[in-house]
Amino acid sequence: MNRRRFLNQSASVLALAALPLPIRAVAHNRSLNFTPIRRGVGIFEGRGGTIGWLIRDDALVVVDSQFPESAGVCLNGLAERSSRSIDLLINSHHHGDHTAGNPVLGADANHILAHANVPVLQRRSAESRGNMDQQKFADVTYEETWEQTIGDEVVRLQYLGPAHTGGDSIIHFQNADVVHMGDLVFNHRHAYIDLAAGSETLNWMSVLQRTYLDHTDDTVFIFGHANPVNGVLGTRDDLLIKRDYLGALRDAVANGIRDGKTADEIAADGLQGFDGHKIDGSSSGIAGNLKTVYEEVTRTVE
Ligand SMILES: [Zn+2]
Repeated sequence: MNRRRFLNQSASVLALAALPLPIRAVAHNRSLNFTPIRRGVGIFEGRGGTIGWLIRDDALVVVDSQFPESAGVCLNGLAERSSRSIDLLINSHHHGDHTAGNPVLGADANHILAHANVPVLQRRSAESRGNMDQQKFADVTYEETWEQTIGDEVVRLQYLGPAHTGGDSIIHFQNADVVHMGDLVFNHRHAYIDLAAGSETLNWMSVLQRTYLDHTDDTVFIFGHANPVNGVLGTRDDLLIKRDYLGALRDAVANGIRDGKTADEIAADGLQGFDGHKIDGSSSGIAGNLKTVYEEVTRTVE
């Protein structure tokens, strides 16, 4: 049985009693949408990309802000758990389901941190959508790595080049050994490949491979989105599954082009071996990914 189902089912006392002890402990500690992982790091699930948090006596750090309404719910939950204001709000990347709550969580934060490309991409997106007045931007940015000791935790951000967007951070809470991957992993499901914001699927695969090698089997990973069956927490093995999914997309497109197929024909053929990536059994997301990779590959060739 997968972890998410464990947690949902364990809401009932009867189901809880039947679970192994370590899982019971996790389920008992879960309240509303807050799920502790370890050493003060956990997640908040509302609407949009998964929020990560670090709550220690002398540190309050939040990763991503979802949308204003769920950010407000998150902020209230944080206030129940800590008397501190937020030392640092981190944006894993610029997409609206990770930054639209910045005006809410950011109002309580000393700083907002993101990769240097994030405010640029966020501003461009907001201007095209006509919602500049609803934005709050990072006031601290970095280019390659950023590291700071906050309380008794060391927080390290790394940028490994264009992947899901042109500004994805890998955020490592080093002492807890928990990594927030933002949308670099859509866990066991089709991805959002945002070519307009600089997405590059080949480097994305490299980013996942390198991050796998940078960590261990004990590292806990937080993912921005997931197939509900698998959930937003996982291990480094899930990074390789995402890498292989992206590789399969690229192979299917390359083979289709070799065989003279159109983007629509390649999309209709689908992918072999990734049935578990269909959400509610629908293959439309995978078909959409194939069309986007076709666009990416043919655009590169031109
Ligand atoms: Zn995203």
